Amino acid sequence: MTVQTSEERPLAASSDNFDDFLPEALRFTAPTELVDIGANLTHESFSRDLEAVLQRANAANVTTLILTGTDLEHAEQAAALCRRFPGLYATAGLHPHDASHWSSSLETAMRDLHRQPEVVAVGECGLDFNRNFSSPTDQERAFEAQLGLAVESGLPLFLHERDAGRRMLEILRSWRDDISHAVVHCFTGERDTLHGYLDLDLHIGLTGWLCDERRGYHLREFLNDIPLNRLMVETDCPYLLPRNLPAKLKGRRNEPALLPWIVQEIAHWRDTDQAEVAHATAETARRFFRLEET
Ligand SMILES: [Zn+2]
Repeated sequence: MTVQTSEERPLAASSDNFDDFLPEALRFTAPTELVDIGANLTHESFSRDLEAVLQRANAANVTTLILTGTDLEHAEQAAALCRRFPGLYATAGLHPHDASHWSSSLETAMRDLHRQPEVVAVGECGLDFNRNFSSPTDQERAFEAQLGLAVESGLPLFLHERDAGRRMLEILRSWRDDISHAVVHCFTGERDTLHGYLDLDLHIGLTGWLCDERRGYHLREFLNDIPLNRLMVETDCPYLLPRNLPAKLKGRRNEPALLPWIVQEIAHWRDTDQAEVAHATAETARRFFRLEET
């Protein structure tokens, strides 16, 4: 087991809140098919009821999921799930929390994974200076190595950045001409960082962070600055349960079927309808991850 890689606190797999019960009030179907670009379905909390989770996602019109591969073990598990179920794709990379484990043998194994047809992005990789579970030096070394793998494979990047916007921008600026595309997943930063990413022609992933009155409301002020052809949506499940749900489910795991609640929140603050956000973000995701071609 590696260290916790989420934006949130660890979740206990054995909690009673992790059964497959999803209240009727939360069964909310997206107006058009959605792509959840960040689903940690290899998390142990999904091991008991994965098929029910996938069925609920389909019923909510969340029909395509990109499974996040945060280290070799989880990336291999994610790729294996893609071979079992339709509509699933995977990323393969090493999360900055685990960057101190980067090695040449890991690099070789990741390179092999990136050749698998179900692996559609390099990552999750990047910088997290919020908690520094690996030293900043180790994080930069692992990140630059994975940027190199993205150049080699031509795959887009699935990036994690927390409290490291300035350094991330510097590094990405020097690699920008060589990499294809990159999405900063679960964007939580400030307006100037956002504009730095957009100026580099990067994509932005938004999660239920936006629905969190304790720390995510600042995002609402510049939501409109993100063009819809640069915006994608994600649950980052089982973490980051959206806080705009009509029922309080304290401690419950998040799941892909709840993605329409995030789309609704984005549409509200962009002063547009859900169908537009749903359609545009799904189109952007299909283009970004080249899903039509696979
Ligand atoms: Zn992340």
